[in-house]
Amino acid sequence: MRHGEQAWQAALLDLDGTLYRGNEVVPGAPEFVERLRQRGIRPVFLTNNSTRTPRQVADKLKGMGIAAEPDEVCTSAEASAHQLREWIGPAEVGFVGLDGLREALVEYGHRAVELGTPEHGDHSGVAAVVVGLDPEITYRRLAVVCAEVLRLGAFVLTNGDVRLPAEDRFMPGNGALGAFIETATGVRPYVAGKPNPDFVRFALQRYGLDPDKVLLIGDNRRTDVLAGKLAGVYTVQVESGVQYAEAESSSASLEPDEVHRSVADLFLS
Ligand SMILES: [Mg+2]
Repeated sequence: MRHGEQAWQAALLDLDGTLYRGNEVVPGAPEFVERLRQRGIRPVFLTNNSTRTPRQVADKLKGMGIAAEPDEVCTSAEASAHQLREWIGPAEVGFVGLDGLREALVEYGHRAVELGTPEHGDHSGVAAVVVGLDPEITYRRLAVVCAEVLRLGAFVLTNGDVRLPAEDRFMPGNGALGAFIETATGVRPYVAGKPNPDFVRFALQRYGLDPDKVLLIGDNRRTDVLAGKLAGVYTVQVESGVQYAEAESSSASLEPDEVHRSVADLFLS
C-alpha cells in the first residue's frame, strides 16, 4: 500500500472480524501489527465494543499474541464519555453497561450512576443517560432507563451494532437495546461508535494525528469504511470478518480505497 511521499502515522484497527473472530486470532494478525510497529506506524485499536476497559481489550489481544497497550485502545465508551464532557462538562451520568463504560465515564470526570439498581433509587440529579451493552440487563432496569430518557429527551448509545457473533448463534447487540428504548420513548439516540466519524476524529485528536496520514482497516463497510470515509482517512476493507458477506452488498458509495483478504496480505510501504 503506497501513499505518495508521505509516511503513514497510524493505522486505526477494527478488532472483531479484522484482528480476531470471536476468540480466534486471524492468522497473520500478530505479525501484521508487528510490521506496523517496525515501520513506525502507530496501531490504534478502535472498537465499538463498550463493555471492556482499554486494559481488558489489550489483555484479550495479548492473549492472542497481538502486542497491545491500554493507551493504544480507543473504545466507544470513551468516545461517549468524551462527547458528553464536551457538551455538558463533568456531570452525573446515568448508565447501563459494564466496566468499560463505568470506567470511561469516571475517567472523563463524570459521576457514573448505574440506572435501575437498588443502590441508586434517586435519579433526580442525572443530567445525561448513556446506554452500553449489559448482557444481564432486565426489563425492569430498561423501564427506569426509558423513564430517564423521556425526562431528558435525549440519550447516548455507545454503539449501534445490531448483532454480535457468538459461538453457535448470534447475540443481539447494543443497537437492539437502543431500538427498544427508542421505540418506548420516541427519542432517537446519539450513537457514538462507528459509523459516526466523530469516533474517528476522537482518536485523531487523542494521538495528534493528521487524517491525511491515517488509514482505517476494518471488515464492515457500513461501520468501519463509512466512518473512515466521513472522517477523511484512507480506508481498507478486509474480508476476514463474519460480516463481510453481509456488508459486501452495500452501496458503491461505501467503496473502500482498498480491499484485501485479510491483514496478513497487507504490507505497508
Ligand atoms: Mg469488525
